[in-house]
Amino acid sequence: MNPRIFLNALSFGILMTASVSAQESLDGLINRDMESLLAIYKMLHAAPELSHHEEKTSVFVAGQLRSLGYTVTEHVGKYERPEWTGYGVVAVLKNGEGPTVLVRSELDALPVEEKTGLPYASQVKTKSDTGQDVSVMHACGHDIHITSLIGTAQMLVQLKKQWHGTLVLIGQPAEETIDGAKAMLKDELYTRFSKPDYAIALHDHAELEAGKIGYCPGYALANSTAVDITIRGIGGHGSKPETAKDPIVIAAQVILALQTIVSRENSPLDPAVVTVGSIHGGTKSNIIPDEVKLQLTVRAYKEEVRQKILASIERIAKNIAFAAGVPEERAPIMKVSDTEVTPATYNDPDLTQRLAKVFEKTFDAKNVVKWPPIMGSEDFGRLGLDGHQIPVCMFWLGAVDPVQMAKSQQTGTPLPSLHSSLFAPLPEPTIRTGVKAMTSAVLELMKN
Ligand SMILES: [Zn+2]
Ligand SMILES: [Zn+2]
Repeated sequence: MNPRIFLNALSFGILMTASVSAQESLDGLINRDMESLLAIYKMLHAAPELSHHEEKTSVFVAGQLRSLGYTVTEHVGKYERPEWTGYGVVAVLKNGEGPTVLVRSELDALPVEEKTGLPYASQVKTKSDTGQDVSVMHACGHDIHITSLIGTAQMLVQLKKQWHGTLVLIGQPAEETIDGAKAMLKDELYTRFSKPDYAIALHDHAELEAGKIGYCPGYALANSTAVDITIRGIGGHGSKPETAKDPIVIAAQVILALQTIVSRENSPLDPAVVTVGSIHGGTKSNIIPDEVKLQLTVRAYKEEVRQKILASIERIAKNIAFAAGVPEERAPIMKVSDTEVTPATYNDPDLTQRLAKVFEKTFDAKNVVKWPPIMGSEDFGRLGLDGHQIPVCMFWLGAVDPVQMAKSQQTGTPLPSLHSSLFAPLPEPTIRTGVKAMTSAVLELMKN
């Protein structure tokens, strides 16, 4: 054998052995912690807290990260409403010179009554911000994310020799109300702590098998804007429409006309949704009411598309009211929410491809799938700042039991979606995959 080829083969062999053993050591470390991570997950799942009220969850996350040696700051987050406490957690681990990488998990749960029948199902009931009695459930799997964050934190402490830089782990409150990331940024997240070179997050997926990872370069989740419209008419007796301007008929026309925005005014190449999710008006069959209230959600990807849709909603609502003879001073009132609004999540294409390659190496290419963009929304994109200043990537973590997946495919019955009272991620191997994926992603971005 040519000695040079032999040497090359030998050094290739050594490199292969080194990388395999590094891989084995990560698997070994995860194996050692798996039992306690599963216990943490079940404990969190049984004790969910609503957005703006993540008090115990944040204390738990802070305690875990502090005991691992991270420098932890609690109560990061300033909301528009001063009565809400910011329960954001920021944990920093400095490890020499190198990039700053931020890893984010949400902390909050939803007002949903759990019906999974699991032994660790939530029984929690509480009062909502509006004073209603509600049940609470981790129906979006944020408990999977918290557990994966803690597992990743454990791994990266033990693998400190394999990375350099500043690691910033955040427990973000109030994702479901899409004002938590904004509140943390408003509380000087990027000046009190290092501004990241990259921000990454995972989200469990209700249509992807446990053990798999999904990724979507570019726009991955839509922007979201809540809009309230009050259609004002002139009330009167139900038997005398000629003396009134009926806001119920105007509202009916407005609702249908709004559906022409996406179909007739928007480019078919720009995804968008206008949904009227709530209509309230009137008290009795023989009374024409004074007003009708509509609540809408608007989804799009591009900011200019969003702006155009909002302008169209206002134009259509006003002009239909005027066409019905409503006077100028009773024009519809449109209120675009300044709290229930979030920009689209734009996964930096280079960063996403870089991580996808790492996942293919870590989990085998057959377990890593490119997933199309969705019209769901997240406030994670805010951490990239306006104009995508910081490259961010949120990847999907498969959470579905393969047995349930096969059953659903055979019977054609859809799987429970995120936010469903029946959503039950398969803890193992979902959490194992989450920890391994996030640890591998950070090691890639902070490698020596
Ligand atoms: Zn959710
Ligand atoms: Zn979520």
